[in-house]
Amino acid sequence: MSGRYVVRTYGCQMNEHDSERIAGLLSADGYEEASDENDADIVVLNTCCIRENADNKLYGNLGHLKTWKDEKEGRQIVVAGCLSQKDRDGVRGRAPYVDVVLGTHNVHRTAELISHAREHGPITEILEAAVVDEHVLFPSALPVRREVSYAAWVTIQIGCDNNCAFCIVPSVRGEEISRPFDDVVAEVERFAADGVSEITLLGQNVNSYGRDLQRAARRDGDDEARLRPLFADLLTAVGDVDGIRRVRFTSPHPKDMRPETFAAMAQSPAVCEHLHYPLQSGSNRVLALMHRGYTADRYLERLADARRRIPDLAVSTDIIVGFPGETEADFEQTLEVTAAAGYDFAYTFIFSPRPGTEAADLEADFVDPAVAGERFERLRAVVERSALQRHEARVGMVEEVLVEGPSKKDPSVLAGRTRQNKLVHFTPPTPLRTGSYATVEITHGAPHHLLGNFVDLIAEPTHRRRIPVEAL
Ligand code: SF4
Repeated sequence: MSGRYVVRTYGCQMNEHDSERIAGLLSADGYEEASDENDADIVVLNTCCIRENADNKLYGNLGHLKTWKDEKEGRQIVVAGCLSQKDRDGVRGRAPYVDVVLGTHNVHRTAELISHAREHGPITEILEAAVVDEHVLFPSALPVRREVSYAAWVTIQIGCDNNCAFCIVPSVRGEEISRPFDDVVAEVERFAADGVSEITLLGQNVNSYGRDLQRAARRDGDDEARLRPLFADLLTAVGDVDGIRRVRFTSPHPKDMRPETFAAMAQSPAVCEHLHYPLQSGSNRVLALMHRGYTADRYLERLADARRRIPDLAVSTDIIVGFPGETEADFEQTLEVTAAAGYDFAYTFIFSPRPGTEAADLEADFVDPAVAGERFERLRAVVERSALQRHEARVGMVEEVLVEGPSKKDPSVLAGRTRQNKLVHFTPPTPLRTGSYATVEITHGAPHHLLGNFVDLIAEPTHRRRIPVEAL
């Protein structure tokens, strides 16, 4: 095939990872990446239905793309991802000029569907469930085109067996399916051989990784099927791969957090001292309405356990403000738990109903937007206070920093991440390559970043400048 493409991504890391696979598949099929859509024959929108106003944004963008498509014969528009999985025929109902609509279970078919549409006209293909085939099921097992050569995401699990009232993921991504243990480790080994030094394990509920594998093994009469939590073992195994200096993971669920995971984090030198630990609300009443499966006390107990076991642990979280029925008293409990948790960082959101979720039907209990907005600001102030405190406490420490490249605001300054996933800006005496590791002494802490002075170069990157696209 020939032609040029661009992929635009909306949403979470899982979607960004899917986009890398879509780009990899198209490149493997002979297409070339275009610098922007003016230079492209195909635009792929990889959509997300979790974020606020996702529908409006998609259909607004599709309106603009209609003009782009009309400007040149043969241009094609592809809509993939969660929103198309949810809206199905609705996408072409609202934007009939879209050529291909595919969902979350058939990313591997992107190139074929584009060819099909070119020959036979527009097509919508949404699968109900994942096809059980390793290459098809896990985006990591498909060809990849990654923008960053020193770090990689590895999908360890797809879908989710929980039913959080605000979340559309279970209905668009399906039930939880874990990727075989050895396949994950083998992929990490391949990345390490290519010079990748930082791995992020991805899944909707990573710490329940492997439950389905163990169940299946026991059903098949394998009495040896391990009862130990596989996620802790996976962290250790990935951390042991030669060349891997950093292992991260996202996202765990507080209800499934096990001491074995904290022990593995503490014992494996490669696993970073950062835990993303989504609170969502500090009110037990709201947590129950959300079906989160833990109380605020239980959450804080486990967090204290994590901090006891893992020295110098940074903790980040997600919090929703104004969930339907949230009272002032509920919200004040969220403020209290937030202050008690002492986060380094928090993603805070004002509740917005996602069609198809239980919470979207609680319209009678929706919180007044002005009240939710005011609560949001109060929460932000509490989070920023603890973030600033924790960042200022790092002044004088010498931290390992992975160089990500020049800072966006000043190209003479480098930006990098500490093991705790904190953004650091510093100026080295001589240029450092992206992917290098350096030590930096922290000189200043702000709520969202640190400043520091270069101390030493620890390691140069070993990756090739661009990892070639693998064929299937
Ligand atoms: S754990 Fe809850 S919030 Fe996370 S993906 Fe599953 S249903 Fe959604």
